[in-house]
Amino acid sequence: MKKNDLLQIKIESMGSAGEGIGKIDGYPLFVKDALPGDLAEVRLTKVKKNYAYARLERLLEASPDRAKPRCPLHRRCGGCQIQALSYEKQLEYKETKVREDLIRIGGFADPPVLPVLGMEEPYHYRNKAQFPFGRDREGRLVTGFYAGRTHSIVPGTDCALGVPENQRILETILDFMNEKGIEPYDEKTGKGLLRHALLRKAFATGELMVCLVINGKSFPDISELSDRLFEIPGMTSLTLNVNRRNTNVILGEEIIPVRGQTFITDRIGDISYQISPLSFYQVNPVQTEKLYRTALAYAGLTGEETVWELYCGIGTISLFLARNARRVCGVEIVPQAVEDARRNAALNGITNVEFYLGKAEEVLPQKYEKDGIQADVMVVDPPRKGCDAACLDTMLRMKPQRIVYVSCDPATLARDLKILCADGAYELQKVQPVDMFPQTAGVENVALLTYCG
Ligand code: SAH
Repeated sequence: MKKNDLLQIKIESMGSAGEGIGKIDGYPLFVKDALPGDLAEVRLTKVKKNYAYARLERLLEASPDRAKPRCPLHRRCGGCQIQALSYEKQLEYKETKVREDLIRIGGFADPPVLPVLGMEEPYHYRNKAQFPFGRDREGRLVTGFYAGRTHSIVPGTDCALGVPENQRILETILDFMNEKGIEPYDEKTGKGLLRHALLRKAFATGELMVCLVINGKSFPDISELSDRLFEIPGMTSLTLNVNRRNTNVILGEEIIPVRGQTFITDRIGDISYQISPLSFYQVNPVQTEKLYRTALAYAGLTGEETVWELYCGIGTISLFLARNARRVCGVEIVPQAVEDARRNAALNGITNVEFYLGKAEEVLPQKYEKDGIQADVMVVDPPRKGCDAACLDTMLRMKPQRIVYVSCDPATLARDLKILCADGAYELQKVQPVDMFPQTAGVENVALLTYCG
């Protein structure tokens, strides 16, 4: 087998990035855009010793699990991987993936995985989008989405996962730049001004935020652009973010207020949250409420407990739990997020919470060793890479009765649960997958561990 060979293959399963997997004499091929059940003609793009990558050229027989995707760009854009799979099958696939990771990586023989909590309407759920700006081959100013694994922009302002307001906001910005001759940033030369537009909507209040990420300190005629943007119903926050570095990281550290507030206010359950451009906030508010309610139920609070929440962001989960606990302490690494968390506590009149700025893997061991802190319940919600070893180690020494682990990556969840359950210290009670990211290969989980030692 060599590059560019054309082969016929039956797709049997799905890989962790949503790609179809089929085998030829036991040799696996990973095929982007192919789905389990497809009989496909594929072209080899990269041949390795034990596996190969291939491109879907032609569907010979379509899988019965295919559904009509809503977005015409779904194959070119890197945002969605499994839009062509029926939603029911997406949920089935995600449940299988969680189970398999817990068996293969976590070493659990029969992991207690519940059916995935799905969405009634699995489109237009995202409250946040980051649109890059650039020029296409013909030199036209464009915005849209990065094609998978690249930085070439697939033009498009009408994302099937995003909110309808995005389109008007983006077109207002494009028109303005064309009129005023404002250049988009060019990664190759490091010249040009506008890099990205970060757009957020608070679903509960309808408030809209626009944050323009610029390679400079100011934006020409910004008050004129601001007037146009504030004609869009819901607009309450316009800011600039300065990012002059030659980097893939979208946001810089400095926020310059332009008009309105520097945050928008959203509500989950009966808690209000103010969200700044630099703070993490879950992207799917409908599912976030299900996620937090599950975390609350798993925490099993009676009002007497001390809870520590690591990786707490703007304090969303901490505040969600606070009314049912004696005291909640959150730890978070981003300074603006900690400011948001403190402000959010005050906004909701919640006084039994405290937030600490720093790395969870440093703050927790220090507080445990120096101040002898205790926790009845610990909640962790780390980024994709999971919990740091120093964190897990301290958790094992602190021995909280319950650990609620919220995770956006089943592989690192499985790795960390294995460590916490080693030598029978903790027992895995249940894992609830929540579909926070329909049409993509991602899946969020809440796991409950109870102390046995
Ligand atoms: N629980 C929150 C945030 C979860 S996202 C929510 O549901 O909204 C993970 C958070 O961990 C982010 O806010 C990120 O800034 C933070 N973080 C990343 N690495 C960290 C570390 N080493 N220590 C503490 N917080 C960290």
